[in-house]
Amino acid sequence: MSSLIWYLHEFARSEWIKKFLFAKTKPVPTPPRFRDFPVVVGECTECKACVTVCPVPGAITLSHIDEKLIPVINVGRCIRCNLCIGACRFGVLIRKQEAGSTN
Ligand code: SF4
Ligand code: SF4
Repeated sequence: MSSLIWYLHEFARSEWIKKFLFAKTKPVPTPPRFRDFPVVVGECTECKACVTVCPVPGAITLSHIDEKLIPVINVGRCIRCNLCIGACRFGVLIRKQEAGSTN
């Protein structure tokens, strides 16, 4: 019982509780070298270079949507190596954070 009283006396101070409950940390900036998931921003020419270069089976597939082949990224498998972005000569695939910064 006395240890509980000591604990409350030592740690249950109003300023400590305020700091604990309302502590804020600065948001961590994304480093420029960070590779995010690829996103589709343009019209795919169905050349399949991205699928060929991808080292992870099933990470990127071309799916029929509205009678067109559209690249689809499986974020559960993608390792964000960005090789598909480099392989796409038509600028259809870009990094996710670049897509966000252009908006
Ligand atoms: S980033 Fe890498 S793993 Fe992900 S879809 Fe592109 S090539 Fe495949
Ligand atoms: S490399 Fe680019 S243009 Fe070719 S299939 Fe992939 S996304 Fe489409």
